[in-house]
Amino acid sequence: MEKIDWQVEVESRKEELIADLQGLLQIPSVLDEKNATEDAPLGVDVKRALDYMLSLGEKDGFTTKNSGNVAGHLEMGEGKRLIGVLGHVDVVPASDGWSVDPFSGTVKDDRVYSRGAIDDKGPTLAAYYGMKIVKELGLPLKKRVRLIIGTDEESDWRCVDHYFQHEEMPDMGFAPDADFPIIIAEKGIADLELVQNFSPAEMKSSDITLISFTAGLRYNMVPDYAKAVLDIKAGHTEIIQLFQDFLERREVTGNYYVESGYSVLELDGKAAHGSEPEKGKNAGLILAEFLALLELDQKGKTYVTTAGQLFADSRGHGINIVYSDKISGELTVNIGILSYNEQDGGRFGLTIRYPVTFNMEIGKETIKQVAGNVGFTIDKFSNSHPHHVEEDSELIQVLKNVYEKQMGEKAQLLAIGGGTYARSLKMGVAFGALFPGRPDVAHQKDEYMELADLLKATAIYAEAIYELASRE
Ligand SMILES: [Zn+2]
Repeated sequence: MEKIDWQVEVESRKEELIADLQGLLQIPSVLDEKNATEDAPLGVDVKRALDYMLSLGEKDGFTTKNSGNVAGHLEMGEGKRLIGVLGHVDVVPASDGWSVDPFSGTVKDDRVYSRGAIDDKGPTLAAYYGMKIVKELGLPLKKRVRLIIGTDEESDWRCVDHYFQHEEMPDMGFAPDADFPIIIAEKGIADLELVQNFSPAEMKSSDITLISFTAGLRYNMVPDYAKAVLDIKAGHTEIIQLFQDFLERREVTGNYYVESGYSVLELDGKAAHGSEPEKGKNAGLILAEFLALLELDQKGKTYVTTAGQLFADSRGHGINIVYSDKISGELTVNIGILSYNEQDGGRFGLTIRYPVTFNMEIGKETIKQVAGNVGFTIDKFSNSHPHHVEEDSELIQVLKNVYEKQMGEKAQLLAIGGGTYARSLKMGVAFGALFPGRPDVAHQKDEYMELADLLKATAIYAEAIYELASRE
């Protein structure tokens, strides 16, 4: 067979590809359960985006299927085995401050701007055109290929949950919903809360009572703000001075004021993603560290000292689960939520990102013991297992070869602490579409995808799909 120039095949469809992408970008497919209907359980616009993809597929001669109005697929090829390509057409809301209409599909400066341009409508359309090119070239396939379209990736993954309950799991596949080259390992994600136990008998009065403490809203973010309310009976001035000195020493900013007779302490830290807690400054932990210097009431004191004792470092030393492996690196712990009030005591909400060879069941037992020793019990435990595909598997070898051939550089195999859409495939990896060195503008204002990258990704997907599906 003649050698195919994938880039040329893509270039010849460039106008059509961009126009189809713009049509998809113009649908504001943000989760909208308030305007849900029976046919559109995640909102009317989310469903419109799904329908848009299904009708594109129909027009181009793919077999299409709607799965419960929350997902669907477009299929081509033949054979028993199935290749899955998993993308999503829901988007996060458009924040303020855009310089273009976020649902316009505006093309300028060789980029296409819109919410969803890089996450994940652009990459999904690139994968679709990859399939379309293979189909239009009439290449013989020995496997079936399915583009699986989800519509709830940004929230609760009800799309893939529903889809894989009712539809066939592909033998292998990839998700164009993260970074190139290839993410072969994703750490496990255990989220849990620790809740404080106390008996009213141990509550003695003291000069300073911790009334409330709050920091953070989500497990997977480093809190950038913390607030404590104290009832101070004596020693006001000294505490103000102590707090100012502390802020300077720790190189953070904060506030101290009195409101309705209570002292309010605020502290600003630095936000970061919960899978990389060392990149932020946890306002909650820093404020707790300060409060631990004061003679608080017993319960309040236990709460703030426990924060320091168990979580002062982000590698799990305090809870005795330090671990790392060659495939995926170090275990990390992020305290995303700290909350306390005088009546109910305190809580810590945390996310643990653990290496693929770590045993989380044993880890959980260890935490239970360590936390139990200081009067805390585990609540709300959830565990998403690590995801890993062997480097020498056919899937990785094919994707690696295609990438290296088209890019002219080595395809580095990546391991990350976050979870990608690929983990909903039994054997799948995240493969693009953000190229190395490009800024990650997903979920940001003025989200865009470089047109050159859109075309390059399409060429890579086309060849990868062909290489995977043309083999026995
Ligand atoms: Zn995404």
